[in-house]
Amino acid sequence: MMTCPSNHTDVRISRKIEEPQIDFSKDADLLETMKFRDPLASDRTFARVAGLTVAAIAVDSEIRIASTSPVAGEGTCAWPTVVTVTLSTAPTVYVGADHGACMRGVGLGHEMQHVAIDRKVIDTYGPIFRKQVGAMIDAMNSQAPPAGLDLQSIRDRIEEKINAVIAVTSDSLNTDRAAQHRTLDSPQEYRRLSAACPQVSIEHTDVPATVHARISPGGS
Ligand SMILES: [Zn+2]
Repeated sequence: MMTCPSNHTDVRISRKIEEPQIDFSKDADLLETMKFRDPLASDRTFARVAGLTVAAIAVDSEIRIASTSPVAGEGTCAWPTVVTVTLSTAPTVYVGADHGACMRGVGLGHEMQHVAIDRKVIDTYGPIFRKQVGAMIDAMNSQAPPAGLDLQSIRDRIEEKINAVIAVTSDSLNTDRAAQHRTLDSPQEYRRLSAACPQVSIEHTDVPATVHARISPGGS
């Protein structure tokens, strides 16, 4: 049985994490109802007491494949030389334009925890992608080349198998990620956010109120 030259595959994991864009231009009403492509909150009423983070974790991949020139009477060898998986996120954090300074600070603090969850998920899943994709490639590289297939079919099969592993791992990432965001948006957290700032009452407008809040952009 013919064997292919011992081949090496480089699995590269890269991360692209953008700093969040912070947007104070939309009222809480709008944040609660507006259509966004990737709203993070499962419960939009958090827009009232905090804000809304719009973010996704994109998983992109690139597969480079090398092959030996077919020799008469022998099969073609093809194997991935470099597989790159890129995990990226570019979140936008909205905090109600109608929120006072205290609520802005509190709301931003909550939303930045969502941003931190996504960063943590990317950090956690980098090594998982490496392991899963690596295991699939090792299995493929140790097999004899499939007989009777042309080069294009072999390439297609390699891509299909690697893409399938990436798709399954992406599904776990998304399930895991959604659970973590839901855990943060707990009823207790909602109550904490609701009570975090003094309620401004119109009966007391004659008393000048000073509200202090620290907004730390980029921090969490
Ligand atoms: Zn939330």
